[in-house]
Amino acid sequence: MHVGEVMTADVANGEGMRVSVFVSGCRNHCKGCFQPQTWDFNYGREYTPEIEQFIIDELSKSYYDGITILGGDPMEPENQEPVLRLLRRIKKELPDKNVWVYTGYVYDRDLVPGGKRFVDGVTRELLESIDILIDGRFVEELKNLMLNFRGSGNQRIIKMKETLETGKVVLSELNN
Ligand code: SF4
Repeated sequence: MHVGEVMTADVANGEGMRVSVFVSGCRNHCKGCFQPQTWDFNYGREYTPEIEQFIIDELSKSYYDGITILGGDPMEPENQEPVLRLLRRIKKELPDKNVWVYTGYVYDRDLVPGGKRFVDGVTRELLESIDILIDGRFVEELKNLMLNFRGSGNQRIIKMKETLETGKVVLSELNN
């Protein structure tokens, strides 16, 4: 996996103060994507143990609420396993930090068994490690600058724990 940027003290991509990790590679190719350079799986730097340790050390500071993983697309099959390894560490070493993930794929169509981005033995645990999943492609015709934490009206802010528990998509009250 490659990462384009690790942003510290980010307040735009999730609630509160966050470390935001932009992973590289995205096959969605949404019209009007604001960072098409991140479609390339080799964009940025290789994700190394040193980068992972930097993320953990930074996130451990008391003023951070959590981590946001975005891209590119963290749910591309190539990215899921390294992202899961990072989230396993966070769950173990920093269990009080929340996890937000952005994907252009649709949870209940693409990320469930039989879906085009479901990876056996990986995707389910990855979803279980996420507090908030923001799903869906960016649709330029539905662009709305007033939306909380997302670019177009089709995108959903999903409470992942409740969704997995109930088997139905549970939307966050942050959807507006
Ligand atoms: S999913 Fe995100 S990164 Fe990928 S093309 Fe769409 S807007 Fe761009």
